[in-house]
Amino acid sequence: DPTMAETQTYGDRRRTPHIVLVPSAGMGHLTPFLRLAAQLSARDCRVSLLTTHPTVSAAEERHVDAFFSAFPGVRRLDLHLPLLDPSELDCADPFFLRFESIRRSAHLLPRVLADASPPVSAVIVDIVAASSYLPAVAEMGLPSYVLFTSSAAMLALCAYFPTYLATKNTFGVGDIDIPGAGRVPKSSVPMLLHDPNQLFAKQFLENGQALPKADGILVNTLHALEPEVLAALNEGKVTPDLPPVLAIGPILPEMSGEGESFSAPLAWLDRQPDRSVVYVSFGSRTAMPAEQIRELGIGLERSGLRFLWVVKSKMVDRAELEVGLEELLGEEYLAKIKDRGMVVKDWVEQAEILRHRAVGGFVSHCGWNSVTEAALYGVRILAWPIAGDQRVNAAVVARGGLGIWVEGWSWQAEEPIKAEEISERLKDLMAVEGLRAMGGAAADVGGTSYQMLTRFVESLKL
Ligand code: UDP
Ligand code: UDP
Repeated sequence: DPTMAETQTYGDRRRTPHIVLVPSAGMGHLTPFLRLAAQLSARDCRVSLLTTHPTVSAAEERHVDAFFSAFPGVRRLDLHLPLLDPSELDCADPFFLRFESIRRSAHLLPRVLADASPPVSAVIVDIVAASSYLPAVAEMGLPSYVLFTSSAAMLALCAYFPTYLATKNTFGVGDIDIPGAGRVPKSSVPMLLHDPNQLFAKQFLENGQALPKADGILVNTLHALEPEVLAALNEGKVTPDLPPVLAIGPILPEMSGEGESFSAPLAWLDRQPDRSVVYVSFGSRTAMPAEQIRELGIGLERSGLRFLWVVKSKMVDRAELEVGLEELLGEEYLAKIKDRGMVVKDWVEQAEILRHRAVGGFVSHCGWNSVTEAALYGVRILAWPIAGDQRVNAAVVARGGLGIWVEGWSWQAEEPIKAEEISERLKDLMAVEGLRAMGGAAADVGGTSYQMLTRFVESLKL
């Protein structure tokens, strides 16, 4: 209410910081922002969330709408993105193209925030938009923060990459030794960073260079999982001029209902024994080639285990309707496994699935949100990274005791990983009892992550 805001005293403003959140494209980036918005609201902050239209995936649109219904107190700020000519950018990934149009919209921010009330205390931007948004926010005289949506290991790579490129004496990108934070072998460096002309590589470099302009960096990780890397970042070893790095993860998921099984996968899980089911999913935007889908299907069947498998054959969910499960796996296969396995091709409530007592293991591509959710609920991971930051994250999983990673399953593999090998690894995964839920402990009241986020909010009141 603007009239109330106008009469608000300085004292009120001190008590209630107003935080503007700027997420970017794709569920992997939207999800942690929605969770952070909910957490900040719960700490008595005023929260405004920038939204862009139309979203790349249908899942983003649904989740944004559901979020505003559930949190009517959060203000929606609409940003109309400038049109891009994709042919000028030479990039086939619709999510990276959307990153670019968000990056090119920073000049619109002052107009969007002009009527924000109460006055804005800070702006938190997605890492992907850092290089254009941090200067724009500074120009408005406001503090700016980055939310890093991947691991601290990946943050170290992002922060160090500009120095690496400037000082390396090899042709191309090789192993990267990050001071204080260990080595990222060439085979784990995101594929797109090997070609400096790729749109993603340019964005990554510019965003890394911009990090020192932020007043702080919030990372969706927890201290207990990445203590050395977090220390190296904060001691200035990785790069000397970084602002404070705060480990605020795992940012807690919103749960739709307490113990209520409102979807077919959850209802199916209710009928399975404790810790007996392998949950298989490669996130919201990783499509698997048809041949690999078939091998994985046979591997799951041969393992003799119970499984809940989310099949994804298209990068953008809106295209998923074009192919059916029967077409990908065959009626015969589906009939054969139906007593032991559930296969779906729709969006599932992953956090609720990982929290379910029947789930005992998780075959994951190691998108960082998936890793944090597994850590939170104590589900062991079989890491099967496919692209992007996923091999860097898989190394964190293996090092941090969250699960196993078969490093030989290279993402460059020309041949699909064979069913026999998959089924052996699945058995290895399920042979070990569950983890302790270290993420849950950190985000609980009094845990390290909870304290970090509380400290951050307190700092905005000063
Ligand atoms: N997710 C989900 N249901 C699905 C697919 C994904 O709830 O069917 C959620 C998942 O729990 C996670 C996010 O979407 O929070 C995906 O992010 P992640 O970083 O794991 O991977 P990405 O999709 O970005 O590759
Ligand atoms: N990232 C970054 N700097 C950038 C863009 C992305 O550090 O300029 C990080 C970000 O956390 C992202 C990861 O790099 O999750 C790898 O990106 P990926 O190719 O997996 O795409 P995603 O689907 O995660 O956006």
